This record gives sequence, C-alpha cells and structure tokens, in this order.
Amino acid sequence: MPTEVITFHRMLEGCIRNEFKFWQFFTSAYAALAQHLIQKHFGSFKIDTEPLLREIFESINENDNFFLKEFSGSSEREFLIYFREKVFATARKHLTGEGEQSVLEIETLNRLFQNVLLAHQEVAWLVMKSYEDGEINKILRVPLSLVQTGRNEVLKKHAQVFGHHDSNLFRLKDRVLQQIETQRGPNCTGIKIISDVVDGRIAWRDKTNIENHLSQCLYCLNRETALKEAIFYLRELSPLPAEVHQSLLKNIKLGNQKEPIKSSLLARVMKVFK
Ligand SMILES: [Zn+2]
Repeated sequence: MPTEVITFHRMLEGCIRNEFKFWQFFTSAYAALAQHLIQKHFGSFKIDTEPLLREIFESINENDNFFLKEFSGSSEREFLIYFREKVFATARKHLTGEGEQSVLEIETLNRLFQNVLLAHQEVAWLVMKSYEDGEINKILRVPLSLVQTGRNEVLKKHAQVFGHHDSNLFRLKDRVLQQIETQRGPNCTGIKIISDVVDGRIAWRDKTNIENHLSQCLYCLNRETALKEAIFYLRELSPLPAEVHQSLLKNIKLGNQKEPIKSSLLARVMKVFK
C-alpha cells in the first residue's frame, strides 16, 4: 500500500475540518516536539508532561480550532514558532516561582554579547537553555569545535566585563526570557526571512544585514535559535507512544472519523443536501 503524503497545509486544513486522520497526524508529528520543549525549557519546574500535552492540543482545538484558524503565516517554519509559543504559554500557566540563582538580566546579556560573533552567541544561548555541546552542534549544524570555542569566548567575555567567573553565567530565568519575548523592535525580522537565512536562500548582502541585526537583538537571537531547535527536533524525535496519542485525542472534538466518501455521485448528492 503506498504511503500517503500529508503536507503541512493539508494537515492544517484537515485539522480545521476536524478530521481524525489529520489530528492523528498532527499529534504524531508535533506532540514529541512539545514534550521535548517542555522538558528542556521548563524541566526545573517538575511539571507533569502528559496532562500539559493534553491541555495544549485541547486548547488548540477549542473554539472550533480558533488557534489554527488564526495562524496567519504561510509556511510550516512559521507554524513551528507559532506552535512553540502555544507550548510555552500553556507551560507558563503552571509555573510557580523559580529559584533565584540567575544573575542574567537583559542588561547583562546585552553587554555580554556586545561584539561577540553571532555563531558564538547562538551557542551561548543554547547553553543557557541547558543544552549540551553534543546537542548544540546538531541543532546549529556546526562542528563541535565551534561550539566549544563559542562557549569559551562568552566565558572569556564575561570575565572581561565583570572581572570574575560566574558559575551561574549560563542560567537564564524564564522571567527574563518573557521580557525578551516582548521586545520586538521595528527592525526585527519575520520568521520567514530568518528561515531563508537558516536555509541559505538569501542574497549575501541581505544575509549580512540580518545577521548583523541578529547579533545585536536578543529578541531575534532567541527566535532564530528557537527555529533551529524546533526544525531539528521535529525531524529527529520519534512520535510518542500510541497510548499517549489516544489520550491526547480523547477530548478533541472530531467531525467525520470515517474514510471520505469515494463516489463522486454520492459526493454530488451530499452537496445538494448541504
Ligand atoms: Zn530583532
């Protein structure tokens, strides 16, 4: 039996029509990514993942798939960031205070990253999100040596700027991150263009301008690394176990769960009765 290819756009439309097959595909493609993001970014909060995953997909489905209908982008890359925002917003509803070990305020970050290569900033940003070197090189698709250099450069810079080494250097508070997420400026780049830069589908002059901006803007640095992270894990992670999917889909309001009607005559008849 040939396998059916479900493109992103078909998936989105199918989910909006509440077709079981597409919701199944959606959860199987995206639930593992959502779980990973929760564990990676909110792991220290000891949140129970499965109820949270259910909440995410149910809230996507609620009000007649309002969240999906509201998506204004045109590519899966944009949807990845849109979906990620949903995951973060849902997880944050359950957060209850976090430890005070972090010293990284926005001011500090800006000074730390001043005149540091974008490639090194990307590394430092993912280190702050508690990724290991061996994960970072895959997410950023760079050699391991560049990851090590990036980490060392930022540590060195920290010692220069603040006169001492700080073991909490790479701890970023969610409170600070939430602040950064609101700091979109007039020159900030949309995900579609960032995505073109990631894929190398952009003229070098534009690329240089955008990379210059990224290296001076925490809002965009965060979005750019988030996109690379989501692209990598969407491809890399296996779907969650079948029983998890069943539980995710349990409360999704579905329309037609049967195979679509094949006969064109019947389809025409159905149309008349609509
Ligand atoms: Zn920006």
